Amino acid sequence: MVTRALDVVLLGPPGAGKGTQARRLAEAFVLLHISTGDLLRDEVARGTAPGLEAKAFMNRGELVPDEVVGRMLLRQLHSQQASVGCVYDGYPRTTAQAHLLDGLLAELNRRIDVALFLDVPDEELVTRMAGRRSCPACGSVYHLTAHPPKDGANCDGCGSGLVLRDDDHDGAIRERLRVYKAATAPLLDLYRGRGILREIAGTGTPDQVHGRLRDGMRSVKR
Ligand SMILES: [Zn+2]
Repeated sequence: MVTRALDVVLLGPPGAGKGTQARRLAEAFVLLHISTGDLLRDEVARGTAPGLEAKAFMNRGELVPDEVVGRMLLRQLHSQQASVGCVYDGYPRTTAQAHLLDGLLAELNRRIDVALFLDVPDEELVTRMAGRRSCPACGSVYHLTAHPPKDGANCDGCGSGLVLRDDDHDGAIRERLRVYKAATAPLLDLYRGRGILREIAGTGTPDQVHGRLRDGMRSVKR
């Protein structure tokens, strides 16, 4: 029996746990996990043509244009591993990116089958992110309650004192959430209008959230 490709968008605010959930979902449904952040870092590290172009923007402190990321996605989507379908982790972030992805998928006679939105109240996101502590030396990330360092204050790996990054301060987190919502609201409307948006409560344990995401996939015919 031939099963068709399944394309799943996983959306959610910063701190909602998208990365972990996207990986688990991809594993459970045998799909390719695509994180555009990882893809970008990989292409830059390998020095591919779009990678070098992206690097030039990053070096100038500018955002990498959608079109450059689109070319990276295009190649990935045409790969053998992507033929079964993909879980897009935190992408698209804007309606422009959504239309770009639609276009790439249309060339393969595919479309987004379902958009899962991980909904987490702001207060919980602030609590989650404000508990983050980072190692300034090696970049390891800890969490005061979810993943504390062994001695409570220093990096397990290199022993450096952990710090609260500027990004993880209360005010900075609230600003990031505000920016995220403004950019994402039209995107949610777009998928809602197509009848493929599923809003999933992103609170509770990772196992509970994973279970709800699987339920959200039930309506999708393969
Ligand atoms: Zn360290």
